[in-house]
Amino acid sequence: MVALLDRVATVDTLEVASRRVLVRVDFNVPLTPEGQVSDDTRIREALPTIKLLIEKGARVVLASHLGRPKKGPEAKFSLAPAGERLAELLGQEIILTDDCIGDGAKKVVTDLREGRVALLENLRFHPEEEANDEGFARELARLCDIYVNDAFGAVHRAHASVDALPRAVPQRAAGLLLRRELEALGSLVQSAPKPYIAVLGGAKVSDKIEVIEALLARVDALLIGGAMANTFLAARGKPMGKSLVEGDKLATARDVLERAHARKVAIELPVDLVVAESVSASEGRVVDIESVGPNDMALDIGPKSVAAFSARLFGAKTVFWNGPMGLFEKAPFAAGSIGVARAIASSGGFTVVGGGDSVAAVHQAGLGEKFSHVSTGGGASLELLEGRKLPGVEALRQ
Ligand code: ADP
Ligand code: MG
Repeated sequence: MVALLDRVATVDTLEVASRRVLVRVDFNVPLTPEGQVSDDTRIREALPTIKLLIEKGARVVLASHLGRPKKGPEAKFSLAPAGERLAELLGQEIILTDDCIGDGAKKVVTDLREGRVALLENLRFHPEEEANDEGFARELARLCDIYVNDAFGAVHRAHASVDALPRAVPQRAAGLLLRRELEALGSLVQSAPKPYIAVLGGAKVSDKIEVIEALLARVDALLIGGAMANTFLAARGKPMGKSLVEGDKLATARDVLERAHARKVAIELPVDLVVAESVSASEGRVVDIESVGPNDMALDIGPKSVAAFSARLFGAKTVFWNGPMGLFEKAPFAAGSIGVARAIASSGGFTVVGGGDSVAAVHQAGLGEKFSHVSTGGGASLELLEGRKLPGVEALRQ
């Protein structure tokens, strides 16, 4: 058992029959313009815990945030579509409250029978949620006997439903999804088998500098692609044309390269790139790293880079991936991310991917089943790897 779970109970050890169990879930799902759930992964990931509680005869109260409502209730941020999708998946009715606190919610929960499920309306309709307000947390605490956190995607935020609420409830536990996430990601920070390789990409160095630092202490090699690589290549004096480069992070990138060298961590940067003159170009051109023209934008890593990264990944015992290798949302610039996803999936090691866009790239490549663990938390997985304490996990400790 990893230290992250020390003194944290899990939901399957609790006596829950006929008790009111509030489960903090992450139903912050993407919606279509018509208000339908466009990707129900997060809802499906919460099913094991919800089904367990139903089977044990708990009275299940679900709570989540969705989107970023400004001040108060806004219809477009209602959890109604998520509740409808959950009802389909469970094959049973879900009662949605008008508000997450107050007499209405209290009555729904009081009337809730064993094995039934209520969903509280969006927590963020109250600004007190993000303010970690204790009075608001006490209002939520009135709705339950037991608190369960299964929202890995939200545990790095000290918000009321994640932090103040569990502290106000006598019995609290991790859900099955949260436990699985902590076990998988925990094994990346504690004696991970080597060779241990991290693959980093995505939009910015600045978003990820802390995780790069933390990884330098653990990994044997760091493979860098995506727009992040542009900044490293620019720091090495390569011409980057009109590519996304963080001009104010060149010194940071040089510093990372030096420290990696001192620690004998191999850093691999792309050796070729796919460039185009605009992000909406219908195709790209492969150029070597010295030949990016003044009007070129580097939008993906090239085939030689994919081959070099794949060679490194072959035989790795532990792999962590965050950040796509290019603008994978556009077909002409997806090959790098898909190629690297395949190489990771077939490395034979323990493989973990985290980050909203990286996970989307893995699913786009149809490789979701081939990874050891696909994390539901982008920010949370990075903070865990940085070695930071996660407020939502700390609040569960006995
Ligand atoms: P994650 O969500 O996995 O943490 P990020 O949010 O850091 O990843 O970055 C993903 C975004 O970066 C994607 O939208 C992708 O299109 C973009 N991106 C990656 N490489 C490039 C590039 N070379 N040029 C422009 N955008 C890029
Ligand atoms: Mg992202």
